[in-house]
Amino acid sequence: MLRMRIDPGANHGVGVAFTDRHGGVSTGSLGSFNLGRTDVDEPDAVRTNVSRLASALGVDAVVVCHQVHGDRVWQVTAEDLEHWGPDSVLGDDLAGGRPLEQADAMVTTCHGVALAIRVADCMPVALADPRTGVIAMAHAGRTGFLAGVLERTVEAMRALGATDILGWIGPHICGRCYEVPEEMAEQAAEAAPATAVRTRWGTPGIDLGAGAMAQLESLGVEAVGLDPCTYEHEEFFSHRRDPGAGRLVGAVWMP
Ligand SMILES: [Zn+2]
Repeated sequence: MLRMRIDPGANHGVGVAFTDRHGGVSTGSLGSFNLGRTDVDEPDAVRTNVSRLASALGVDAVVVCHQVHGDRVWQVTAEDLEHWGPDSVLGDDLAGGRPLEQADAMVTTCHGVALAIRVADCMPVALADPRTGVIAMAHAGRTGFLAGVLERTVEAMRALGATDILGWIGPHICGRCYEVPEEMAEQAAEAAPATAVRTRWGTPGIDLGAGAMAQLESLGVEAVGLDPCTYEHEEFFSHRRDPGAGRLVGAVWMP
């Protein structure tokens, strides 16, 4: 269920976790701990999985957004949380449901809720300044990363008073597996030189983790990579290995 969990008690009051495929009730390619794909999974299964995640993290709610590979950061307020219920995670995939906020990062100073980003090869990045109590979670796939989602997220945190920001880069497809057309690799390397890489079979690739590490360092964020490759390790969902795969999450919270 939780592949990696940094306990708030051991991390100045900020918890960070990344999930794997196990411990849920979804079936088939979504099996079993699908926390995304609300469009194709059984609503009851997603609800149960999210509820199990909330229990495992010790939070009242798991907040998600409608990820669109952009750079918008949603500031989650106490007022937003008043409207957040067990069905909210399903958005308007559930008939009559409230559409989710379109964003690729969330930032908050609220306690008792986890911000969760849903991925299957894209890079989830947790950020926190434990001293000022500002936390954020970002979805950084190739497009969002190059659009500057991590920069926007750090800016949004600083606007809320964050000064000393720590980062945790979660499981994603590694540069040695993430093959892309030559032109795409060149564009990425031009914008973010640290992404330049060759795959294990010698073709052009993109190293998102190295790119994020370099960018966060330049933004004054002290980051660590908790990044086993999703494509290589079957305990994670991987869109590239299995296009029907479910979604794992990266989550950050303050109890
Ligand atoms: Zn890999």
